[in-house]
Amino acid sequence: MSDSDAKILVAGTGPAGLIAALALAHRGHKVVLAGPVPAGRDRRTVALMRPALDFLAPLGFLDKLTGESAPLRAMRLVDATDRLIRSPTVTFHAGEIGQEYFGLNIPNTRLTEELAGAVRGTAEIDWRESLVQSWTCAPDRILAQLANGETIEALLAVAADGRQSPAREAAGIAARTRALPQAALVLNFSHTREHGFVSTEFHTETGPCTQVPLPGLRSSLVWVVRPDEADLLAALDDAALSVRVEERLSSLLGRVTVEPGRQVFPLSALMPARFGRNRVALIGEAAHVFPPISAQGLNLGVRDVEDLVAIADAHSEDPGSAAALARYDAKRRPDILARSGSVNLLNASLLSGLLPAQIARSAGLGIIGGFAPLRAFFMREGMRPGSGFSALFSLRGKDRAAKSHW
Ligand SMILES: Cc1cc2nc3c(=O)[nH]c(=O)nc-3n(C[C@H](O)[C@H](O)[C@H](O)COP(=O)(O)OP(=O)(O)OC[C@H]3O[C@@H](n4cnc5c(N)ncnc54)[C@H](O)[C@@H]3O)c2cc1C
Repeated sequence: MSDSDAKILVAGTGPAGLIAALALAHRGHKVVLAGPVPAGRDRRTVALMRPALDFLAPLGFLDKLTGESAPLRAMRLVDATDRLIRSPTVTFHAGEIGQEYFGLNIPNTRLTEELAGAVRGTAEIDWRESLVQSWTCAPDRILAQLANGETIEALLAVAADGRQSPAREAAGIAARTRALPQAALVLNFSHTREHGFVSTEFHTETGPCTQVPLPGLRSSLVWVVRPDEADLLAALDDAALSVRVEERLSSLLGRVTVEPGRQVFPLSALMPARFGRNRVALIGEAAHVFPPISAQGLNLGVRDVEDLVAIADAHSEDPGSAAALARYDAKRRPDILARSGSVNLLNASLLSGLLPAQIARSAGLGIIGGFAPLRAFFMREGMRPGSGFSALFSLRGKDRAAKSHW
């Protein structure tokens, strides 16, 4: 006898799990959420692009983050390598595709706090603040044994339990994992010059160093370096680290003062063989891990949830059935493979000392930077897959209509 019979159990209370629980409940699904209250020690910020924000808006918590998030009006890529072949600086302006901003940069702890608050305020979500200790997959249901002794029985388990994902393992889904020779130093800082709501990604031989605007004269930083260098930087006192950050940013934002507290994230890449099987659907970092370049990870996680909700709606009688999970796998595969592939390729081209890789990266960015329609295409595709192509086709359609009119 189980303590709760739910159609859908979401395991994991990071941003992906909380968003999934809310979005499923918003569509009328009864959800049990299993996982601890988020710890609130995450110093990262997350740049969520407009399509993700549009999906989250009806869930009713985004307004509470307005004062603490900053709009991204432009994104600049700077080749800061010392290599023979260097790319030109490319700037993408949201105005070029008719948008006021690409997205919002939000502190992770505030995002998860507001998500958790919204979950608590949702009657359709039964939150058990406990880890899942073990899973039993059966053909017609899945059982989760919680660390607090309870048992939850469900038709579908949503694995939002992070990169190690015990639920993925229980479902027998193999995953290829690769540790990368990189770590991300994360911190926030204030500066004396206005950022103008522009984010700048400096591409270096060890990975990107990305400044993202926060409200006022503040920004967040994700600095990807070798793991030993990340440890050395993290061990510096605030004054010495401020000087190093200012040097890395070529004093673009004037004088830098780092705020107390910093974190180091070892980087890795992970790709599962499937995205759903044996009554388990993978979302967020259970489904994809790649380096933090061009703010893609959680945006992709939100699209996982978007597709999952549509499939749960279409298979409301049994959202964990083999047919529903096969459909989820087919729907997520192209998007996840394309995003992971392009981010991993860009990362590899930065790390590679090989001249052809440098030429390819430089030529690619040169062409994009110099040709406005191509820039617009990449900006749209960067925000939502397929939207660059739809814009091209709708332009061609308009063009044909205009020609036939003449
Ligand atoms: C430095 C850095 C910067 C980034 N910047 C961006 C950005 O700007 N934009 C963007 O889109 N993405 C960004 N990302 C990616 C983004 O942070 C991740 O995609 C996101 O945090 C993943 O969330 P998640 O909920 O899938 O995983 P997690 O946050 O890892 O959550 C997993 C949860 O599962 C829980 N859990 C584990 N085991 C169990 C269990 N047995 N039972 C129940 N619960 C369990 C854990 O307690 C945890 O709460 C960045 C990543 C890094 C490293």
